[in-house]
Amino acid sequence: MKGRAVRVTVFGVVQGVGFRPFVYRLARRCGLAGWVRNSGAGVDIHLEASDSAGFEAFLKGLAAELPPLARIERQSLKDAPFRGFKNFTVRKSGRGESFVFISPDIATCPACLRDVDDPADRRFGYPFTNCTDCGPRYTIVRALPYDRPNTTMAGFPMCPDCEREYRDPGDRRYHAQPVACPRCGPRIEIREAKSGRPVSGGIPRAVELLRKGKILAVKGLGGFHLSCDPLNEAAVAKLRRIKSRRTKPLALMARDAAVVRRYARLSPDEEALLVSDRRPIVLLRKKKDIAGIAPFLDEIGFMLPYTPLHHLLLKDLGLIVATSSNRKDSPIMKEQDEGIRGLCDYILTHDRPIAMRADDSVAKIAAGAPLFARRARGYVPYPQKVPEALRAPQSILALGGELKDTVSLYKDGYIVTSQFLGDLDEYDNRLYFEETIRHLTALFDATPACIVSDLHPDFHTTRFAEKSGLPHVRVQHHHAHVLAAMIEHGLGPEAKVLGVSWDGYGYGADGTAWGGEFLLAGYAGYERFAHFEPVPLPGGDLAAKQPWRMALAYLRAAGIDRRGAQKALGGVDRARVRGVLDMLDRGVHSPLSSSCGRLFDAAATLAGIAPLENEFEAEAAMRLEAAAASGPAQPYGFDIGRGSRPIRISFAPAIREILADRARRKAPGGIAARFMATLAAAAVAVAEEARAAAGIGTVVLCGGVFLNRKLTEAATAALLKAGFDVTRPVQYSPNDESLSVGQIGYALARLKT
Ligand SMILES: [Zn+2]
Ligand SMILES: [Zn+2]
Repeated sequence: MKGRAVRVTVFGVVQGVGFRPFVYRLARRCGLAGWVRNSGAGVDIHLEASDSAGFEAFLKGLAAELPPLARIERQSLKDAPFRGFKNFTVRKSGRGESFVFISPDIATCPACLRDVDDPADRRFGYPFTNCTDCGPRYTIVRALPYDRPNTTMAGFPMCPDCEREYRDPGDRRYHAQPVACPRCGPRIEIREAKSGRPVSGGIPRAVELLRKGKILAVKGLGGFHLSCDPLNEAAVAKLRRIKSRRTKPLALMARDAAVVRRYARLSPDEEALLVSDRRPIVLLRKKKDIAGIAPFLDEIGFMLPYTPLHHLLLKDLGLIVATSSNRKDSPIMKEQDEGIRGLCDYILTHDRPIAMRADDSVAKIAAGAPLFARRARGYVPYPQKVPEALRAPQSILALGGELKDTVSLYKDGYIVTSQFLGDLDEYDNRLYFEETIRHLTALFDATPACIVSDLHPDFHTTRFAEKSGLPHVRVQHHHAHVLAAMIEHGLGPEAKVLGVSWDGYGYGADGTAWGGEFLLAGYAGYERFAHFEPVPLPGGDLAAKQPWRMALAYLRAAGIDRRGAQKALGGVDRARVRGVLDMLDRGVHSPLSSSCGRLFDAAATLAGIAPLENEFEAEAAMRLEAAAASGPAQPYGFDIGRGSRPIRISFAPAIREILADRARRKAPGGIAARFMATLAAAAVAVAEEARAAAGIGTVVLCGGVFLNRKLTEAATAALLKAGFDVTRPVQYSPNDESLSVGQIGYALARLKT
């Protein structure tokens, strides 16, 4: 018999996600013969039939019925020699040499949950149940190709039953690399933390210990959580002592959305994110406060169980604290020997090693789209496509900044960004940073031809780049923020935007501290179009820790005399206030900064709601956001110095008005709302200048300040109303996690010129 043959090559997330069995079933249904196999570039499919009806049905099915985790980035189709195959088979995969995608870790699917819940199923109650639609991926892969010997499941030989499922293309577990069952797979174990003594009783015992107020370290996908009963105030207080955190919010894990709804408001968008198979922590508006969980804030973070172990644990408990198991500012712990014993009463662990640690992702919904505070488990290492005209043949490694760091790797038209790595001024996080670079470059088989860092000469990342011996490109901090959003939204090399790039601190092109920036930006460069009027930071770094220092700096800059300033800071020790005023008046220890974060500190202090000392970054700003009354607010005044370039924006009028509002005993909620309306109005005023001066129509909102939902929504609405297109990071955080993404964009533009 003669017929026609075609070769379909599919590129995207198509390995380790049940794609080949899907192709196998589809081809057979369409009456086609041939084969499917993983290749370096993706998946090759050879199809044969005597007429073309089968091909059409196949291509239609390929587009419409894709497995849940698979994503096709592109596909090609060409004629192939007809071989006369009798049936359709799955062929062995070859070692790849091109860019291969790896799926992120994915929450347990409904079919696996049914297996775990079914007393008649051989996986009843088994905490490591998974299939091709779900389970661990990124955190268990040691090398490519993604086959079992290259994962941390290598030490668990399959039993005959699992082997049969693994080999059967008709089975849901066909080539599910982490497939396991109670006979052959990983096992849990409980140990008493201090003595290391094993404790019997399994998950029911763990539930009982949590009920008794004990702190449990629970090993999950990317590391250990510390868990306790959130409604037990003594247990929460103990956990806070252990973590040395008095006010930093703790994340909760709830059995289901119904439990979440008891404590938080849940919009349809928020619920969709919460129940998605990525299972991030979703920051929700509080409905009923739980003491000690997220003090002084109006948001509380919830996630749903994402492994069978979590499902089994939550079944009877409903709600637990699930905060990452690090000591203050260190990476999440992945092995028992990393000191977890000192942090808990009991350890609920298991014997499947973690190849790559990953924290939980954290996101909220703002203006109808996700806003990431942290991008890690469930999203990494999903790649970002780079606009065609920017692509280069070389691989590039970008190292990010210093705080909230990530690294990004560019290869063959895609950027893979690491999970959140934390602050690199901590030694342990620097090891984590280096561990992650080794892991990513090995996993994606990339040999970077160039390395990118921030402009800051003293960042660990900058020094690392210098020592690498590779060609070194440096990118200004706020420019990188803008470029990250431009890449994400597919803006091409010709695009020019106004980047409203607001954060706490970034090293400026002139060596001074920047942070309230408006950049006319494209990939290859930028002009500092406008910025906040710099004010002194009395005490340097201390000014970022003690918000009242910034209030004094802003009061003095607004022309308030010493007495008036002292009076406004009634809650702070008088001698300390005098000391800082002396510092300001003499101009010692007071470097200038245009920081937007520090302006927030000043406003929060003057509104009467800032802590004396920030325990974590942006704490005062978050309290200000939490306090802000909803609904439209009247902006305070600000001066925009139109004559100068860059334009300088002074908030001195706003500071004087806030002071007056406080004197009239206006509530902090109204002051906070008006302050944010002021910032939104400043963004619009500068955008209008940029439109007049350079024909700019698109505004990018970026930088850590735009983690503030209320400001993001207010600025977006105001800019849209003024006729601008508004863009912001959606798949990446607006904070420093996105710097490495933007750095790649600049390096690519430089390679072109
Ligand atoms: Zn599953
Ligand atoms: Zn088995």
